[in-house]
Amino acid sequence: MKKPRAAVGGRRRKQTSSGEEREKHALSSSQARPTIPDGQARRQEEVVLQASVSPYYQFRDTAEVTVFRESLLSWYDQKKRDLPWRRRAEGEVDLDRRAYAVWVSEVMLQQTQVATVIDYYTRWMQKWPTLQDLASASLEEVNQLWAGLGYYSRGRRLQEGARKVVGELGGHVPRTAETLQRLLPGVGRYTAGAIASIAFGQVTGVVDGNVVRVLCRVRGIGADPSNTFVSQQLWSLAQQLVDPARPGDFNQAAMELGAIVCTPQHPHCSQCPVQSLCRAHQRVEREQLPASQSLPGSPDVEECAPNTGQCQLCAPPTEPWDQTLGVANFPRKASRKPPREECSATCVLEQPRAPGGARILLVQRPNSGLLAGLWEFPSVTVDPSGRHQRKALLQELQNWAGPLPATHLHHLGQVVHTFSHIKLTYQVYGLALEAQAPVFRVYEGQQSGTGKSSKRSQVSTPSSRKKPSPGQQVLDRFFRPHLPTDAPRLNGVAQ
Ligand code: SF4
Ligand SMILES: [Zn+2]
Repeated sequence: MKKPRAAVGGRRRKQTSSGEEREKHALSSSQARPTIPDGQARRQEEVVLQASVSPYYQFRDTAEVTVFRESLLSWYDQKKRDLPWRRRAEGEVDLDRRAYAVWVSEVMLQQTQVATVIDYYTRWMQKWPTLQDLASASLEEVNQLWAGLGYYSRGRRLQEGARKVVGELGGHVPRTAETLQRLLPGVGRYTAGAIASIAFGQVTGVVDGNVVRVLCRVRGIGADPSNTFVSQQLWSLAQQLVDPARPGDFNQAAMELGAIVCTPQHPHCSQCPVQSLCRAHQRVEREQLPASQSLPGSPDVEECAPNTGQCQLCAPPTEPWDQTLGVANFPRKASRKPPREECSATCVLEQPRAPGGARILLVQRPNSGLLAGLWEFPSVTVDPSGRHQRKALLQELQNWAGPLPATHLHHLGQVVHTFSHIKLTYQVYGLALEAQAPVFRVYEGQQSGTGKSSKRSQVSTPSSRKKPSPGQQVLDRFFRPHLPTDAPRLNGVAQ
């Protein structure tokens, strides 16, 4: 029987605290009338921002905010990339279809580059053009299309969400950020805000990685953006800035600026529409002035003063300004835990002379946790020291396939794959069975999505470990000598 494994790598959805459930007015066009923001919550956020931080981080007045919005939006109107989800959302009048088009793109874009997503998005929307189509797909089909995008729970949750909308919400996507986040699986604060603003015109700000970078630079925020207080300030700033007439476009513009101008390493400040309001840029210019030219008593607030080390938005005194980084001094890199190390023993159990062609045993992972519901070579988590590895693996194999000849189990090499929080070393074994092997479930190896996502996999074999790294390879290449390339499709249970 299948054993549940430790759930790892999952992203826990934050619950909202707001009790607001009012549906906002829907729009028939992304540029039409905005909905009314939740005034009370917004005022509270602004009060928090203003009461607790230095004026250095705030916009001077509403005129400055207006200049920021207008500059950013007119830049966006000229420079925005023509992306399939934008075209689809802009041309769609049906609100649920429009929300679906945005939802799919936002989920795919989490942790994944635009260039990679385009092709997946196009295939997805061709295969499942509506929420109803997605709701009736199988998880197997969803995983298959998702293969290579990584973070597989995203696809599964997207489908769960579609099923919920179709089965429980009358086919209608919730119309506000608050209800989206509360009712839909896998929809967190960012995704909810993006769908609500882009598809429904709700005036709600969003903060993703690009926006964090832009806002930290624009406001000169040097503290760790993953810190709760800093994150609250960033959401509050985003809410303050979002354009009430074009909230969806504004949010996309802020993200677009981060993606193509205010990039992580080499931002193009000379092409930036908000350069005149950017604290990071001002700081760079000031640092470049010879000391004799710095103007004392400048009319602008040019520093967060006094910097006693108490300010929660300043860079810590232990991390002084680095001249060589320029504006890229912001945002401060979040302190990241190194991935936890795990070890797994896995086996390609092969039946080379099975009737109809060679067969291999693939088994399905549990429906929760890492790579949930995907197919894999049977594997078992083992002690990294390597002790009892063979025994544990053999036991796992026998659970699936019945008694096996232990002496045929050969160690082939190892594959290291880094997931978001786990560095997993697979000790790879092979075992070839005679033609009349016990009954076991088989599945065609080439259909497995697991190997194709191995952009970050490093492969080594006992004979190649001393050689230079063979670079990025996928599991099926690693096993090619063992797999006939013209193997027929083998699904279901075979004898
Ligand atoms: S001026 Fe430079 S650092 Fe500031 S927002 Fe624009 S691109 Fe980013
Ligand atoms: Zn400060």
